[in-house]
Amino acid sequence: MSKPLNILFVTSEAEPFAKTGGLADVSSALPQMIKELGHEIRIMMPRYGTISERKFKLHDVIRLREIPITIGAETRVAHVNSSFISNLKAKVQVYFLANKDMFDRPGMYVHPTTKKDYEDNDTRFIFFCRGVLDTLKLLGWKPDIIHCNDWQTGLIPAYLKTTYKNDPFFKNIKTAFTIHNLAFQGVFPAASFDKTGLPGSEFTMEGVEFYDKLNFMKAGLMYSDVITTVSEKYAQEISTTVEFGCGLEGVLQQRKSALHGIINGVDYSIWNPETDEHLENRYDIKSLEGKAANKRELLDKFKLEYNEHVPVIGMISRLADQKGFDLIKEIADDALKMDIQMIFLGSGEKKYHEFLESLRKKYPNKVGIEFGFHDELAHLIEAGTDMFLMPSQYEPCGLNQIYSLKYGTVPIVRATGGLDDTIQDVEGANGTGFKFKKYESKELLKAIQRAVKAFGDQKAWLKIMKTGMSKDFSWESSAKKYISLYRNLLK
Ligand code: ADP
Repeated sequence: MSKPLNILFVTSEAEPFAKTGGLADVSSALPQMIKELGHEIRIMMPRYGTISERKFKLHDVIRLREIPITIGAETRVAHVNSSFISNLKAKVQVYFLANKDMFDRPGMYVHPTTKKDYEDNDTRFIFFCRGVLDTLKLLGWKPDIIHCNDWQTGLIPAYLKTTYKNDPFFKNIKTAFTIHNLAFQGVFPAASFDKTGLPGSEFTMEGVEFYDKLNFMKAGLMYSDVITTVSEKYAQEISTTVEFGCGLEGVLQQRKSALHGIINGVDYSIWNPETDEHLENRYDIKSLEGKAANKRELLDKFKLEYNEHVPVIGMISRLADQKGFDLIKEIADDALKMDIQMIFLGSGEKKYHEFLESLRKKYPNKVGIEFGFHDELAHLIEAGTDMFLMPSQYEPCGLNQIYSLKYGTVPIVRATGGLDDTIQDVEGANGTGFKFKKYESKELLKAIQRAVKAFGDQKAWLKIMKTGMSKDFSWESSAKKYISLYRNLLK
């Protein structure tokens, strides 16, 4: 058997500590699976003020109480807290890089009331990227691989190839960089470049410069040893089209041989109707009565009438353009002419809050809405709805459609990115959901109509549900693909 690897997994969010989206799910489950497969892996993330010291039994790492971190001409001091993640079999150590000024705020990247990005996000994540490397050295734990995720960690590979290149501690460490969403790139004015402390020679097209600005994501793509993204289809979309490449398609073309698509898995210790801690009525593929009980409970919560013959369509999402709300807006009236109910959980852009609010006013007996981020309700919606809607413009992987499969909640999705890779249309053999290709509202409406019609045939519907429920997207096979990429880097 080959030697176990040492891996540092760097992320800006991880369940159960801090979450705005799918990155947090991945950053918790993937390291646990890698550890279960016999490797030493530790996580580093920012210590946001919202992470409860008591709940997570955070403690100071004594050796790491005063770490000076250079940002431009300034030095800021970090300290490190530590805790564990252990909802699966493996227990993974988590280090939190702490500095009150930087991270003790009500939001992670965005102010929760103004919805605006924090103005000093450049400084905050330069601090984080340099801090990760400085901490590692003080800790004296040398990983074989540093696995970075999304723009917040993008400068780490750049530092390793430049500023920290001659430091013997960092010699031979290889980097992997995963794109979870290419649309968020961390782009800042040219003046931010001085704060990075990177050599001036790196502010070019071959480096971190992007139309005369500093681009963190581009840094990750240019300097890492291997690049991954979270589905094969998305890997292909972002490297071949302007629509999906968000200006970085050229860079991805250039690095094509280093780019790999690996589909995200699911942590079935959290997302499984048989064991779901958030559900009073559990169920599985062999006994589905619990699902009906969840539907009743969910509709009660939203003061909507229960009828087993009326399909309920659910959606749990950031309220953002990406997620297809403009299409929903165009066809909502037509869709709601049918005998259906809809339940939305989400938060995000004001225009979509207003749209959903107006929809509820217009259809008080058919539409239920909850604004905000509510983990427990997300589980009940997965369990209590009949169909799950994800008409995304683009979707790197998407997790809710995969959760939906396990909960017997049939996905209606746009055939893009991970949605296309994980859902098979019922028109073919062994279909698990309803897909539409073109990003057009009438296409979405047709897919919903097909689903509603299919729901009328109970026996056929049950087959679709069960085909989905029997799918296995557990992390093991995807985690093994990451490990094999790590090993290739070390050859
Ligand atoms: P993205 O990362 O683009 O937001 P994903 O589908 O990959 O989309 O992951 C979203 C994750 O966040 C899922 O676990 C989903 O259940 C969760 N989520 C999104 N919005 C909410 C919300 N308002 N309340 C609770 N969970 C949410």
